[in-house]
Amino acid sequence: MTDLTDALAVLRERFGHTAFRPGQAAAIAAVLEGRDAAVLLPTGAGKSSCYQVPAVVAAHRGAGTTVVVSPLIALMNDQVDGLRARGIAAAALHSQKDDGEQRSTIGALVQGELVLLYVSPERAVQDGFKRLLGRARIAMLAIDEAHCVSQWGHDFRPEYMRLHELRDTVRAPVIALTATATPRVMAEIAGGLALRDPVTVRGDFRRPNLSFEVQHHRGDASRIEATIEALARAGLRQRTGWGRGIVYCSTRKKTEAVARALKAAGFAVGHYHAGRTGLVRARAQAAFALGRTRVLVATSAFGMGIDYPDVRVIVHFQAPGSLEAYYQEAGRAGRDGEPGHCLMLFGAADMMTQRRLHDGADGHRSEEALLALERYANATICRQQILCTHFTGTDDHPACSRCDACIDPEAVRGAGSARRDRPHVGFGEDGDLRGDEGSDGRPRGSALGAAVQQVILDAVAAAPRRVGRVNLARALRGSHAKAVVTQGLERLPHYATLAEVSEAQILATIDQLIRERRLVRRGRKYPTVGLPDPPRSRSREPGPSVARPRQRSSSVTLELDSYRKRMARQLKWKAYMVLQRGVIAAIDQQRPMSREALARIPGLGPAKIARFGDDILAVVRRRSPPSRSTDRG
Ligand code: ADP
Repeated sequence: MTDLTDALAVLRERFGHTAFRPGQAAAIAAVLEGRDAAVLLPTGAGKSSCYQVPAVVAAHRGAGTTVVVSPLIALMNDQVDGLRARGIAAAALHSQKDDGEQRSTIGALVQGELVLLYVSPERAVQDGFKRLLGRARIAMLAIDEAHCVSQWGHDFRPEYMRLHELRDTVRAPVIALTATATPRVMAEIAGGLALRDPVTVRGDFRRPNLSFEVQHHRGDASRIEATIEALARAGLRQRTGWGRGIVYCSTRKKTEAVARALKAAGFAVGHYHAGRTGLVRARAQAAFALGRTRVLVATSAFGMGIDYPDVRVIVHFQAPGSLEAYYQEAGRAGRDGEPGHCLMLFGAADMMTQRRLHDGADGHRSEEALLALERYANATICRQQILCTHFTGTDDHPACSRCDACIDPEAVRGAGSARRDRPHVGFGEDGDLRGDEGSDGRPRGSALGAAVQQVILDAVAAAPRRVGRVNLARALRGSHAKAVVTQGLERLPHYATLAEVSEAQILATIDQLIRERRLVRRGRKYPTVGLPDPPRSRSREPGPSVARPRQRSSSVTLELDSYRKRMARQLKWKAYMVLQRGVIAAIDQQRPMSREALARIPGLGPAKIARFGDDILAVVRRRSPPSRSTDRG
């Protein structure tokens, strides 16, 4: 066993943590011994420490720099800033660094002044970079988001398949890290990155102090009742006392309605969603932190990096979109090791809501995620076992003896058969969610800006024939309505592109385009819309757009879509909070090549550009023709 005294000292003195978290010590010991490691830990478990801590130890020992390959420029920059703030010499090399910065980083690396060097995968596989590594002293290679090597995964990055080439130049241990690790992906990571007899560190996904429960409900009234009961059981009816509870809802409107109902029932309750102003959100969070409100009703927007140790109960008023999301949110209960209760209220309407909120572009994956969630809700065996098996791919987890299926299997099975007899709820219950404000918080029914207009015009241009305005709006929102399907509108490249915008807003925008004569309306009873003559003269936004073949537009859109989902997972946001689909469509249209051009994209503010701009530009450059590509890696 390697002596971890140095590592523990670094963890305490440089990072301010008192002890290793599960898995960290094993991973750190492996690389300090010079062995390869494959680290599978749940999100938030502290994967970065697994390479940052040994990097500092190795640098102290004169072993050189740790090179970290990371696919997200925004996160690289965050990490470098964080490390520098702790007095650790770190830098990043990627396409968005100017020449001067790159030169000084390279100089520092060669001089052995860097503890950590972050690098994009594109840069990492360039010959020039490999030569550079040959001139430097390298202690270790860390491959973050290692599942990007998997061709089966949603985050596949071709450069990851070539990262093993670095081993030809660098004789140093490799540590690969991920939170996604079915056996197939784990095998691909070990093979694709050419790990040599790696120490595998598999986090414990079990939470022995949590009791999981699923209840099946149809309408809101019985859900409110069940929520009140769960909160009361956790002792949260009293306005003061120990512990707190979180109630997660899928939509803002529902969040507000549930908060009202709980308030009326006498709870000290606040609510939180991304549609509220920053100030109001901060207040809601502070009141909850200080215990003035003991219950917080929130969308998944709540929770970014926030850990309260004494959350006693987490109710999902509506089922979330995946077990990943569920585990992350429910896992906020019982962080202090004391008992926590995780109750999911499930109904067929929740699946509808999720389909509506989910991405059309990645329908297959979201559908798989929903199926896994549905299986969990309908299961009659230990719920912890299901969760652990889902995340680790192994099925040797003991039953928890705390969940509803362990405690009262008869009742759980009974609920299952009663449920199957019931007709599906369908759109009825979901209907009341349909009128939600758009994700941008605009009131419903007002016309939207250039990006959305462009999506509508493109969709009309791509439609096989003239299309009814309501059907068009529904297709753009990703509806599976019969008319949408029979008219083949599901195959439109823009299908579901505007899922986060309300139908009323899309209709208002179509009407505005008609008023502006950019669309022409025909027929009275069943009006259809088409482009004005000449039929294919498409109106364009002024700006740096460049004519290009149509099929390429999808690759930028697809990659940005996958990017926003990855960022959303990392930041624990909703995907649309990273980038709205209309914004992605506009980026694809205009192909901005500079920050200035990005600033002209409607819906991309300075904060978004500061945070995500570099990544967006990298995607656009990577996906644009070589003659225009200026990416150096
Ligand atoms: P992951 O990459 O696994 O999602 P991070 O590396 O971002 O997780 O770490 C999540 C959080 O856990 C960070 O706030 C980090 O400071 C904290 N953390 C990491 N290691 C420890 C530790 N040993 N003790 C306490 N907190 C830790």
